[in-house]
Amino acid sequence: MQSYDTIVVGAGPAGLTAARVLAEAGRNTLVLEKNRTIGQTICAGGLTVRDMEYVPKNIVDSEFNYMLLHTTKGSYEVDLGSHPVFTVDREKLGQWMAKEAQKAGALIMTASRVSAVDENHIVVNGEKIGFDHLVGADGSNSIIRKSLDITVDKTAIGIQYLSKTLRNDLEVFVDDFRDILVYGWIFPHKGFTSIGMGGKTGKGALMRRSLDMLCDRLNIERTRFEAARINIDYKGFVFKNMFLAGDAAGFASGLTGEGIYQAILSGDDIAKGILNKEYRYPGIKNILKIKNRQENILRILSLNRNIPQIVFNKAVPFFLKRRNLCRMINNKYNVV
Ligand SMILES: Cc1cc2nc3c(=O)[nH]c(=O)nc-3n(C[C@H](O)[C@H](O)[C@H](O)COP(=O)(O)OP(=O)(O)OC[C@H]3O[C@@H](n4cnc5c(N)ncnc54)[C@H](O)[C@@H]3O)c2cc1C
Repeated sequence: MQSYDTIVVGAGPAGLTAARVLAEAGRNTLVLEKNRTIGQTICAGGLTVRDMEYVPKNIVDSEFNYMLLHTTKGSYEVDLGSHPVFTVDREKLGQWMAKEAQKAGALIMTASRVSAVDENHIVVNGEKIGFDHLVGADGSNSIIRKSLDITVDKTAIGIQYLSKTLRNDLEVFVDDFRDILVYGWIFPHKGFTSIGMGGKTGKGALMRRSLDMLCDRLNIERTRFEAARINIDYKGFVFKNMFLAGDAAGFASGLTGEGIYQAILSGDDIAKGILNKEYRYPGIKNILKIKNRQENILRILSLNRNIPQIVFNKAVPFFLKRRNLCRMINNKYNVV
């Protein structure tokens, strides 16, 4: 049986970062990806300044220094100051990250779906391959997580259209729609626009109806619909010689569904932990601190219908105006 120091399952941002760091340190590293093409992930491709420590500017589609924030009471233009937001085509990001991992010496095999896992080998396309360490970076429906008997009890759902209609502004809207707190976005890219919503799993049909209405109201063509669950249920990441990174571990934010940064940082930390047994995982500790804070905010917002109304229609604009960061504009778009 062929064997590797580390097998990484999944060529998303978590897996490719882990593979690059391990290969740079001279470790014999194999990445297995079920898809033929790397980077074909359901995602709006929004990045913050934190991501830009790991992503070169020449591959991003756009940079935004202000955004339009729409609430039930009105719309605001918000100055993003020193926190611009970027959009990136996930396929372009995946291809760039794969090249970096390969340059460092990692071997990447596509069209390679892992179908079974044991404590020292995996099965891929009917063949057994051995490992000393295994990194499960295989996303929200992780087979590695399942093999460890770790259930996923909390998920969020993200839905979007990738539209041919081009838009100029980065737009975010928050709405309390028939008891579901909806976070929506319009993220312009080069050549397409992502318009989507994130919210509670189980409310997908309602969200789809309101997304359709929003597209129609804004004359945005509903070109290609996509939806996926996001695992937000963190229950640990080190299990002897097996590790869970990114969405497989449930590191994504329960508040916004954002998970690219958490995937990159956890992949980086896990690789460093494999290289040095004394490593204390500062990146993952930081992810968990922010995740807990954001999920506490979500808990408070979900306590009572009036709370999101007060927060988004009064407190947030008041705070932004006091700091001279926003001005009210008129063209508000209701989700309903
Ligand atoms: C609609 C939507 C919009 C989003 N928008 C944003 C956003 O704007 N910004 C942001 O930060 N986050 C966003 N996210 C979340 C973000 O996409 C994920 O958090 C991020 O991709 C997680 O990276 P990952 O490497 O952990 O997993 P993934 O990117 O999911 O990569 C996992 C890889 O594993 C492969 N794989 C799975 N099973 C196997 C197997 N058995 N064998 C081999 N390979 C396997 C998959 O094909 C995939 O390539 C969004 C999510 C959704 C659903």
